[in-house]
Amino acid sequence: MNSLVKIDLSKLLGKSGQIADLDREVRLNLEEAGLVLTRPVRVKAELTNLGPTVTLKGSAETEIEVDCSRCGRRFKTALTAELDEEYASHLPQPEYKKGAEVELTDQDFVLPLPRDNKLDLGEVLRQNLLLAVPAQTICEENCTGPQ
Ligand SMILES: [Zn+2]
Repeated sequence: MNSLVKIDLSKLLGKSGQIADLDREVRLNLEEAGLVLTRPVRVKAELTNLGPTVTLKGSAETEIEVDCSRCGRRFKTALTAELDEEYASHLPQPEYKKGAEVELTDQDFVLPLPRDNKLDLGEVLRQNLLLAVPAQTICEENCTGPQ
């Protein structure tokens, strides 16, 4: 069961240029996604109110338990995810021109800010940590495979 980890951005949103530091441990259970965390996630990030958007930049560190891709041994390894998100309180409406090719711009990766101004940090961490897991996990550099 994940505890709700919501960050209230109301104060940050009050003033353009405002910066808030985030330094906390978050208990996260990602087992439904197939990832076993052996430690709470340490989040160090900076939230910046840029006016039209709010950015979240920093890192999330934890430890995971995985099977070695070579020998199958279960081992623990550090997992770090870079956090680089951008939120807008008012998303620009995309313009659709018939027959025109739609070009993806940076704006397409700006996420909407929740109506209550509370950012779900758990969801941000879930997505970024899952993306940070390497496709191959090797227990030791010189692992020779099954004994
Ligand atoms: Zn191995």
